[in-house]
Amino acid sequence: MHDDDHGHSGGPHHAHDHADAHDHRRLGRELGLFGTDPLMGAGLPYWLPDGATVRHALEEYVRETELRAGYRHVYSPALGKRELYEISGHWEHYRDDMFPPMELGGQEVVLRPSLCPHHALVYRSRARSYRELPLRIAELGAMYRSEPSGVLGGLTRVRAVHLNDAHVFCTPDQAAAEARAALGLIRRAHADLGIEAARYRLSLPGPGGKYVTGPRLWRRATALLEEALDGVPYEPVEGEAAFYGPKIDVQIADAAGRESTLSTVQIDFHQPERFGLRYTGPDGEKHQPVMVHRSVIGSVERAVAHLIEVHRGAFPAWLAPVQLVVLPVGEEQREQAYGLVRRATAQGLRAEVAGPRHGTLGARVRAARKVPYRAVIGAREAAGGDLADVRLRDGRRPGRLSGAELLRRITDRVRARGPELWEPA
Ligand SMILES: [Zn+2]
Repeated sequence: MHDDDHGHSGGPHHAHDHADAHDHRRLGRELGLFGTDPLMGAGLPYWLPDGATVRHALEEYVRETELRAGYRHVYSPALGKRELYEISGHWEHYRDDMFPPMELGGQEVVLRPSLCPHHALVYRSRARSYRELPLRIAELGAMYRSEPSGVLGGLTRVRAVHLNDAHVFCTPDQAAAEARAALGLIRRAHADLGIEAARYRLSLPGPGGKYVTGPRLWRRATALLEEALDGVPYEPVEGEAAFYGPKIDVQIADAAGRESTLSTVQIDFHQPERFGLRYTGPDGEKHQPVMVHRSVIGSVERAVAHLIEVHRGAFPAWLAPVQLVVLPVGEEQREQAYGLVRRATAQGLRAEVAGPRHGTLGARVRAARKVPYRAVIGAREAAGGDLADVRLRDGRRPGRLSGAELLRRITDRVRARGPELWEPA
């Protein structure tokens, strides 16, 4: 669990967000990305096909990035026995944010408020040796929080959260390097996604009883995070730590300047202790590992909300719900247009035809204004065989290209997952 990290720390609660042109809720509605229904309930958004496509591309990116960085993925259930959260400390320190327990066969089960306890059990599922460490366990999993109904809205204030989470189980000597590597993944992901961090925050405990005790361990965890930050400018802020340990929060700001936490890195001595986690060291003795909790993109809800606002719905090509729209000028070019879309789809691109029945060419181009690539096929192109007049979303017009050349160019850009739409020839 990352406490407030995928949520709303750092600022007042915004129950009255106004719908400006950047608002992800307004754009989400206009672009058909997600919605809510009173029968599903407040704070429980559903994802429409175009929104689900964006989310899927993002999840795939995260999984590939983690695999390359040595993470292994698991699945664990969104429910657990109340006792699990009593052991982890959530029941004592975080209960106000949890859904009430459900009675089931004489037991109480709880919608999980975090994935950490489940991953601790995955670690504990067999004996561990120092040779396996660092053991990096990742999951994009559901967790639930009982947000008050007054603050719910869009994708940013939700009761069901799907967190890009991971826990690195390592020796104390490895913890700072693992935290630093996680910060590297975060920086790289932000660059790929076109996200700019507003600031790095070192979130420390504050007054009040929500934190576990153990001043020596808090100091030690804080020192390791400071070491991991290694030259990155940051601001220490009291009262924003997780209940079990300090954390680095990578803050983002929305168009109105409101700040929230997207990515986090935390160092935790508490949960390994509570779950009795051990590994056999080179000395043959049992030792306690450290848990580094980290999230690269935070929750998919918050990440997509931010991406919608940052890009104003005009996503980088690799994330765009529709990457290529093919526009036959008249019905005579219809066959050629569908042929191009079939080839694009076979190559793994997301393409569609917007034919004359959808209006004038000008109206169809305007309707496709968020689509990165448009291929117009008129009589001249059709006469030239496999040609299309190519126009980019940003106004550039590379001109007439063969369908094969166009698809190769787009596929290259999509595979590169960069922000740039077109590579000069
Ligand atoms: Zn965690």
